[in-house]
Amino acid sequence: MRYKVNNTPILCPCCRNDTFDKDYRQLNSRGATFFGIDWANRNAAILVCTRCSYISWFMSDPSRD
Ligand SMILES: [Zn+2]
Repeated sequence: MRYKVNNTPILCPCCRNDTFDKDYRQLNSRGATFFGIDWANRNAAILVCTRCSYISWFMSDPSRD
């Protein structure tokens, strides 16, 4: 699957491939709540390159191309 952010097609910075699997990971830093940094516990979108498995992280959700 191809994705884009702000109308910019996403390319793998490692191998220049343009197809990814999308998944989500929680940005779960211990102690973040203690310091009141609630955004640190948000989910981040990740795109895993289908060729080389490089992981790109996004705070905003990439849209399908
Ligand atoms: Zn790649």
